[in-house]
Amino acid sequence: MNGPYYIADRCFRDLILANVALRKISTGHLWTEGPVWFAAHQCLLFSDIPNQKIYRWMCDGTVNIFRENSNFANGNTHDREGRLITCQHGTRSVTRTEHNGDITTLADQFDGKRLNAPNDVVVKSDGSVWFTDPTYGILSDYEGYKSTPEQTHRSVFRLDPQTGDISQVATDFTQPNGLAFSADETLLYVAESGASHDETVPAVIRVYDVDDDNMLQKGRDFTTLDKGIPDGFRVDCHGNIWTSAADGVHCFGPDGGLLGKILVPETVSNLTFGGPRGNELLITATTSVYAIHVNTASAIA
Ligand code: MG
Repeated sequence: MNGPYYIADRCFRDLILANVALRKISTGHLWTEGPVWFAAHQCLLFSDIPNQKIYRWMCDGTVNIFRENSNFANGNTHDREGRLITCQHGTRSVTRTEHNGDITTLADQFDGKRLNAPNDVVVKSDGSVWFTDPTYGILSDYEGYKSTPEQTHRSVFRLDPQTGDISQVATDFTQPNGLAFSADETLLYVAESGASHDETVPAVIRVYDVDDDNMLQKGRDFTTLDKGIPDGFRVDCHGNIWTSAADGVHCFGPDGGLLGKILVPETVSNLTFGGPRGNELLITATTSVYAIHVNTASAIA
């Protein structure tokens, strides 16, 4: 099959398309992350963390600045009301951009101490906001403001935006990073990216059962990457995991087996499904953002 692919399992052929190009849709950035597709606006937002900007890519190919002075924004998503939710290293907070443009701080501390540097975020259908809090954004002055962590752990947190209550739902990570729910929200996948600074940490995506009280149970390894570390990832409508890696995007089946790879010429940080028909992977990769059509779509309608 023609295209920028590595096929590990013949099932992968059903998920990709022949004769499609990997298109570079934006470049000239320092480190891109946090892609989120807004179907209602037919646009992609993504962060350039060191440049402190959030960019907007439109389907007609134009790219413009959505937000100057983004406070080292990293992960983005939207809630069920279509409001942008953003992790900001600079303020060590999770924020929500209201429909009128006001920015509301949803969380900036836990147990009376400042968060480390919220990295990636996802919203469950009940409105709860789940985010990871590794220390990357305070390790240097490049992607935030260098500082000493106040938190004991690098945790996964669940936030109730109605009450502001924050619950610590996982503490067994060196550096938790990307996260995503399965389509039925009975599973939460979380990336362990601690190998970035400690090669003894396995480059794994972990998975937890989500119980009826919105707590995580039975944490276990889902899969291990053979190249690079997992940062951000998404789940498709078949339950496959599409994750960032050093050599591109790796696709794993629901059992954790490698199905194949989309090879990308820059280190990938994150990705999301989007485009006018929802069948494109939009990939943030170091200095650029890439797009490629696929034969699948997001698990989230
Ligand atoms: Mg990340």
